[in-house]
Amino acid sequence: MAQYFASFGDYLKNLFGEKVYKVTLDAGFSCPNRDGLISHHGCIFCDESGSFSRLYPNSLSIRQQLQSGILKIKKRYHAKKFLAYFQAFTNTYKPVSLLKDIYNQVFIDNIVGMSIGTRPDCVDEQKLDLIASYNFDNRFIQIEYGIQSVHDKTLKLINRGHDFQCFEKACRLSKERGLNVCAHVILGLPGESHSDMMQTAKTLANLGINGIKIHMLAVMQGTKIHQLFNEGKIYLMSEDEYISTVCDFLELLPPDMIIQRLAGNGKREFRIQPSWLGKKLELVGKIEKEFQRRNTKQGSNFSHNSL
Ligand code: SF4
Repeated sequence: MAQYFASFGDYLKNLFGEKVYKVTLDAGFSCPNRDGLISHHGCIFCDESGSFSRLYPNSLSIRQQLQSGILKIKKRYHAKKFLAYFQAFTNTYKPVSLLKDIYNQVFIDNIVGMSIGTRPDCVDEQKLDLIASYNFDNRFIQIEYGIQSVHDKTLKLINRGHDFQCFEKACRLSKERGLNVCAHVILGLPGESHSDMMQTAKTLANLGINGIKIHMLAVMQGTKIHQLFNEGKIYLMSEDEYISTVCDFLELLPPDMIIQRLAGNGKREFRIQPSWLGKKLELVGKIEKEFQRRNTKQGSNFSHNSL
C-alpha cells in the first residue's frame, strides 16, 4: 500500500534495522496539575491513570518493569529491540538527582532508546542536559510534551496550567540539546473550530519538532469532560468527521514529521464516548483510504511559515 504518512514504526525500523517494541514504564511520578502545585483538578480530559495503560504493578523497580515487559513482548512477538517509554503522569517531575537514578536503570541489553512523556513546564536546562546525556551510540532519545492545542484560550479552558509560550521554550531547549521532540495534540477540544485545529497544525509544522501524537477527544469516566458531557456541553466528532479532520491536519504537517499515534483511546473500561473509538488499526486503515480518495498525503499542503 502507498505510504500516506510517516509512521513511527517504519521510522524506528529504518533506524534499527528491525521492528522496535515499546515497553511502557511507571516510575511513580505525580503531576503538578493534580497534586496541587498548579491545581488539584488536572486537565479536564485526564482520568486518574494519567494517560497510562499499566502492564505491571508500579511497586516493581524500573529495571524489573523493563525485564518483565521485555519478557512478555519477546514471548509474543520474538522481539529483539525495545524502546523504554515513561508514559504515566509527568516523567520529569522530580529533582535531577532522582531522575538520574530512574533513567540510569533503563539501558540494559536490547534497549535502543528512551521516550519521556512530560509537561513543558516541568523541564529546565539541568533536566534536559541529563536526558541529553543518554543520547549516544545511535540511541533514540525523545521527550514528549503534552500541548494539545497552540491556542492559549483553549489551554486555559482545558486547565493545562501553562501557555503555548512555555511549550515553545521547552521545545527550543530540547532541540538545542539534540533531543527528538514529540508533541501531543487533541482534536475536537471544546471551543475549537476546524480552523483553530488547522492553525495548531500549521504552527507545530514550523516549530522544528520531530514527531506528533494525535488523539481524538474522548470522554473518560470521572473527568471534568465527563461532567460537561452529561450536561450536554461537549460536542464529539463522528468517526467520519475525525477521519476528515485528521487528514486535513496531516496534509499541513511536514512530510517527514513522524506520526507516532493517530488515535489515542484511553482504557476501554473507562471510556464513555465516542463508542466508535475502539480499533486503532481499523481507524488507521480508514484514514489511509480517505487519503487515497483525496489523492493526497501527509505534507500535501505543508508550507514553511504558513502561519
Ligand atoms: S498534565 Fe498529563 S497527567 Fe497531568 S493532569 Fe494533564 S493530562 Fe493528566
